[in-house]
Amino acid sequence: MPIRATKRGEERIPIDGNHDVLICGASFAGLAIARELAGSGADVMIVDRYEIGERQTSACGIPTEWLARLGLMDCERQRFDTLVIHTPHGEARYELPWTFSTFDYRELCQLLWSDCDARFETAKVNGRAEAANGDGAIAIDTDRGTITAPLVVDALGWRRVLASGDGYQPPDAPLSRGLEVHPAGSGEDLEIWIDRRYVPAGYGWSFPADDELRIGIGSFDPRFHVKDTTVLLTEELGKQTNEYQGNWIPHKLRRATEGGVFFAGDSAGHCLPLSAEGIRTALYFGIALGRELRGVVEGRQSREQAAAAYAEFNDSHERKFRWMLRVQRLVPRVPPRILGPAIRLMGSKRFIDWSFAHYLNIAPPEFAGEARRPEPVAS
Ligand SMILES: Cc1cc2nc3c(=O)[nH]c(=O)nc-3n(C[C@H](O)[C@H](O)[C@H](O)COP(=O)(O)OP(=O)(O)OC[C@H]3O[C@@H](n4cnc5c(N)ncnc54)[C@H](O)[C@@H]3O)c2cc1C
Repeated sequence: MPIRATKRGEERIPIDGNHDVLICGASFAGLAIARELAGSGADVMIVDRYEIGERQTSACGIPTEWLARLGLMDCERQRFDTLVIHTPHGEARYELPWTFSTFDYRELCQLLWSDCDARFETAKVNGRAEAANGDGAIAIDTDRGTITAPLVVDALGWRRVLASGDGYQPPDAPLSRGLEVHPAGSGEDLEIWIDRRYVPAGYGWSFPADDELRIGIGSFDPRFHVKDTTVLLTEELGKQTNEYQGNWIPHKLRRATEGGVFFAGDSAGHCLPLSAEGIRTALYFGIALGRELRGVVEGRQSREQAAAAYAEFNDSHERKFRWMLRVQRLVPRVPPRILGPAIRLMGSKRFIDWSFAHYLNIAPPEFAGEARRPEPVAS
């Protein structure tokens, strides 16, 4: 179990103060933003209720090239060039045009953090506070005091804590739900199950990561409870459930800015529908936002110009997200006896190369630029 690391006793001194940039949330999106701001000279504060890397938020699977581009290869655990898809009517093995890796969450966060020159504090963010003066600074209420900054980012996940509160709550909001366990074990294949025994709309997965398996179920329907079938899949794979970890997963793009606050990652609905892949998109939109904010702190643009540019960038992805949402809605409607053969049919090299290239291009690794840290030399 992760330890809630907000400081206690004498260590719990107030952290109220004014900064150039306040980033709320120190996971994929928040750290990517802070990393883009490194060296800008800005006074950047980042807060999270847990220590950096303390609480894993996913199965930690990502296209390998994203790790390489960000200089994060040291945290890679295992690499895959095939994807095995199980259906009740047969299985297919897709030879991928690019590789996918599992990684260690704590190590990835610490590597990203080592590239930053921001200040970090553990604090729970409660929401917006009344701003003390009219200089455009935004005030944020935390359990350790009020922090103000002219540039404030919500990278806190799907709850979108710093928005006005539009009643966006499960089970009515467009959110999927995911739950997984991490039993000890090993495997060669990245595997998914599209099988109504486990989930009527969604999929199960087993992602090997060196000495553990990350086995879980994701349901596109937030009303479907995934615990029993996470247990079922785990037991059918001959493993025992442990360390449950789950969350709601957005599957619809949201506004990138609101009330002067910037949103990135799950708080902006940046997780891809259908695959529920939200790490690379959190990094991708985080980098985009970090670049815009850097323009502000370096005096090249105003906050309003940054907001307009980032919102335009966000919205330019809407068509692709909508298209993936359509497929997400279609797959559960395909009768199982047709799904198996259809998935095998789609396994032609031409189709896979085409579809996976398009898929990767929604948030392409080249966007990250060149790695600041060289790749480790293979031993
Ligand atoms: C079971 C499961 C498995 C998944 N597997 C994958 C996968 O393999 N690959 C993939 O690409 N995506 C996966 N996803 C989706 C992925 O986890 C998210 O899309 C991704 O984590 C979003 O990153 P983020 O930085 O926006 O938010 P998060 O990673 O959720 O980080 C939010 C941060 O904000 C902090 N926080 C939240 N509220 C507060 C508060 N009030 N005060 C202070 N701090 C707060 C949290 O501690 C956390 O550090 C999975 C999701 C689930 C649920």
